[in-house]
Amino acid sequence: MARIDLVDLAHSYGGNDAPPESFALKPISMTWRQGGAYALLGPSGCGKTTLLNLISGIVTPSRGKILFDGTDITPLSTQKRNIAQVFQFPVIYDTMTVGQNLAFPLRNRGVPKGEVDARVAEIARLLDLTPFLNRKAQRLTADAKQKISLGRGLVRSDVAAVLFDEPLTVIDPELKWQLRSKLKALHRDLDLTMIYVTHDQTEALTFADTVVVMHDGRVVQSGTPAELFDKPAHTFVGYFIGSPGMNIVPAEVRGREARIDGHTIALNRSYDKLPATAKIEVGVRPEFVDLAAPAPGLLSANIDRIDDLGRVRFARVRIGDAKFAARVPPGLSIPEKTAGLVFDPSHVHVYADSLLVEGS
Ligand code: ATP
Repeated sequence: MARIDLVDLAHSYGGNDAPPESFALKPISMTWRQGGAYALLGPSGCGKTTLLNLISGIVTPSRGKILFDGTDITPLSTQKRNIAQVFQFPVIYDTMTVGQNLAFPLRNRGVPKGEVDARVAEIARLLDLTPFLNRKAQRLTADAKQKISLGRGLVRSDVAAVLFDEPLTVIDPELKWQLRSKLKALHRDLDLTMIYVTHDQTEALTFADTVVVMHDGRVVQSGTPAELFDKPAHTFVGYFIGSPGMNIVPAEVRGREARIDGHTIALNRSYDKLPATAKIEVGVRPEFVDLAAPAPGLLSANIDRIDDLGRVRFARVRIGDAKFAARVPPGLSIPEKTAGLVFDPSHVHVYADSLLVEGS
């Protein structure tokens, strides 16, 4: 397994002379540590697959370099990069048995038979494939075939990294839940560098130690699931991660106060040097705003509806024209039309032109 450095890496499908804004991947430099579990998360078209394909060598970058353990591997073909890949759809040999499929990547590299057998047995056990080892792959369900693909991706212990491109897309929802947690456990057991592309935040947050959030060809934040939740570096991260996503409303911010729709709410940090021309917004997750009976001094909101999610209820409200979500405290008798909102100041963030501003 390897440490991976991306050095000023960028890609344009329209050639190097295309305008910078049109690049599918805008220049990024970052390091992914050896043995880490990374998820590339973002909506369709944000550049996740492009970045994964640059690492695997399927796509050659327009600019920049990729290093594995300090060695520049950018000119190398996919075969020479020593990586394993798992795709959306099963890539297996139907006429081989499950065991032969799992053994294939090892046999192909001349690994001694004893070692092959031991490793295949271990991977089959970890993926609950042991009872099927002698069955022909073609007889199995689509789910089982994709498990074989996962196994083939994980069977070699000497790869620089294992790359997964939305590997649970074809899996039945019930099994998807199990495999999400299983992949996390597999990462712990097998000690490999893993990079996992998905647009599904639950998959990313379950699997990864570090989630790399992409938007419009850029990495907008790279952090632990808790960091992304507690301190989104960009309004996009706040909105994209969480369910419901972060509330983001225009505000005037001065010192330790934010004015929203004519009301003042307290901040627990001071913001004295905000850029004068920037678009200033306040972001707060619905979990940190409580619905209350209307009262003087509380920001008031019009109630649209209540979403009851079983253990928690969220009120969908409007502040002026802005849509907003707030937690409904247990036992609150919900006001008819208008409610007050109670903010937790330690979770209210300030953004200038979509970027988090650290107060003092
Ligand atoms: P998805 O989840 O839909 O696969 P993604 O986040 O993986 O999306 P990419 O597939 O990397 O995004 O696409 C990034 C941008 O590059 C998109 O605008 C896409 O249309 C464009 N793109 C991707 N592949 C090619 C290609 N082979 N030729 C031209 N443009 C491409």
